[in-house]
Amino acid sequence: MWQSLIANFAVVGLFGFGWLHLQDLLRRVRRPYRRAILGAVMGVGAIVSMQLSIEIQPGVLFDLRACFVAMAAFLGGPVAVAITAVMTGGFRAALGGVGVAGALLSIGLVSAIGLVAHALVRQRGASTGAILAFSLVSATAPLGGFVLLPEAMLWTALKAGMPIVAIGFVATAVATFFLVQRQRLMDEQKLLQDAFGQAPDYLFVKDNESRFVAANNMVAIRHGFASPAELRGKTDFNLASPERARKLFDVEQEIVRNGGEVLNVEELVAEHDEQRWFLTSKVAVRNVDGEVIGLAGASRDITERKALEQALLEGRKQLDLVLTTMSDGLARFDANGVLVFTNERYRAMFPLTSDVRVPGSHLSDILKAAAERGEQLHIPKDRGNWVTSIVGSLASGGEEEVPLFDGHWLHIRTRAMPDGGATVLVSDITNLKRAEAGLMALTEQLRAMATTDALTGLLNRRGFDERLADEALRAARSRQPLSLVMVDIDRFKAYNDRYGHQAGDECLKQVAAALRAGARRPADVVARYGGEEMTLILPDTNQQGAWELAEQLRESVRALDIAHAGSEKRIVTVSLGVATLEPGSTVSATELVRRADAALYIAKDAGRDRVMGWGERHAARA
Ligand code: GH3
Ligand code: MG
Ligand code: MG
Repeated sequence: MWQSLIANFAVVGLFGFGWLHLQDLLRRVRRPYRRAILGAVMGVGAIVSMQLSIEIQPGVLFDLRACFVAMAAFLGGPVAVAITAVMTGGFRAALGGVGVAGALLSIGLVSAIGLVAHALVRQRGASTGAILAFSLVSATAPLGGFVLLPEAMLWTALKAGMPIVAIGFVATAVATFFLVQRQRLMDEQKLLQDAFGQAPDYLFVKDNESRFVAANNMVAIRHGFASPAELRGKTDFNLASPERARKLFDVEQEIVRNGGEVLNVEELVAEHDEQRWFLTSKVAVRNVDGEVIGLAGASRDITERKALEQALLEGRKQLDLVLTTMSDGLARFDANGVLVFTNERYRAMFPLTSDVRVPGSHLSDILKAAAERGEQLHIPKDRGNWVTSIVGSLASGGEEEVPLFDGHWLHIRTRAMPDGGATVLVSDITNLKRAEAGLMALTEQLRAMATTDALTGLLNRRGFDERLADEALRAARSRQPLSLVMVDIDRFKAYNDRYGHQAGDECLKQVAAALRAGARRPADVVARYGGEEMTLILPDTNQQGAWELAEQLRESVRALDIAHAGSEKRIVTVSLGVATLEPGSTVSATELVRRADAALYIAKDAGRDRVMGWGERHAARA
């Protein structure tokens, strides 16, 4: 009997280890087929076990068939156990005997127990405890079939069954343990292999002669192979240009020789009409004895990253170029008012504080230095307030024009940035300022020219009109009188006729100078009204005062003593008409001129060389 039991035990071992081996071969077979084959193998095992069974009583057979059924269920699930159970049950039925019914029952029982264990283990994993529990239950299960035996045979059957339960337990436990262990190992290996094979980088392992031992799909595809297996035994000399292969080979041999590594080497590879960048690392691989047995490598395609880096670098270069060559100064302040960036130009624009205008300095310190060193002009007395307001303007932005100690003018524009900081743009506007000043002087000159009479240097008619309008308004506002004196040279046509036009001009100039000299108040205005007619605007002067001044002017022209043979006076004389706007009068400036003119004509009529006030009908003097 023991020989049979041991033979049975050996059968379990044989089929168990046979399956282990078979599993390796079936690695590429899909799971349902693998399970069906497991079922068939375990079925054959059960049949062989039954061939070695012990007949404890006529028709009652004892063997380790349950062990096979249980393992099929436990390891392969429903598909496997269905096949094993059918084969086992069929064979047992063919053997016949009194125990057939009980045997079929116990096969069913063991199948059920195995399936429950299969399901549980799938959820929780096959721990050693679970395997032992499963083995015990499944080894004991055949005894369940005994209930169908006639009562007389039951006790003897049970007694004889005990050793077979024990052997069954051990056989199931050992075989299951190894199979589970093996399965686990295979799963892990498969996972690693899949990960290796499907990794997005280029992974490869080479032997000491730089021949490919293993490579993943990416390497195979890149070199135009259908599967990584086709790369086995090849070297870079089969794949790359001779020069590149030689370089790679030399590096790899160096690694293999010294057991070293080469990390993150960037390489530009030209092939298939395009250039791609690769980042490659290679390390020596050692066995447990520490001997180098090859090398493992990983490459990554970094073409896109490189292109981006290149674009970034190019952009940076352009920006640097612009920043260093731009004619404006540029500075960046952070949200706390600390200078974080300037271009060279910015610092050059502030010659006395360029040492302070460096990253890390606070704007308030820069401003204080500018004030203390006298770099910036026109800084308000309240320096603290000035600094605070400028630092505050970082957040709001603004513009200002700043005069420097050396005559330079800077235009400083501050722009607030979304990050709370500010960008400051400084332009040299010295030339602009100079041009502006020049332009203003020119404008003033032009304005003066436009209102000056070229011959006499007096205000011309246009200037006279402007001034008279202004003075009339002022007089009305200040409730002061305003007088106007019209002067006309007597018999001037005759003077021209006799002495020539040029001499006439000369005479005009002398009379103009005499009038100007006679009008002594700064507010008095002397203008050439047209031809040889001149006029005086006398602010704050009443009729009497104007009349007196007119009289003095008449005298001073006489005093010039310019000979005038064509005049009955024998010398150059003038006639004058005076009109006055009294305070509160509503008479217009035009009317004032008309009145002075009218007075002048009365003076002419009255015999010339005299003053006549508007409204007067008599000559002041004969
Ligand atoms: P009166 O005023 O005394 O009545 O006689 P008048 O000869 O001066 O007469 P009127 O004022 O009408 O003549 C003006 C003359 O003055 C005409 C012109 O020959 C001369 N005249 C006007 N403007 C100029 C000038 O710019 N230069 C010169 N040389 N002569 C001028
Ligand atoms: Mg005239
Ligand atoms: Mg005249």
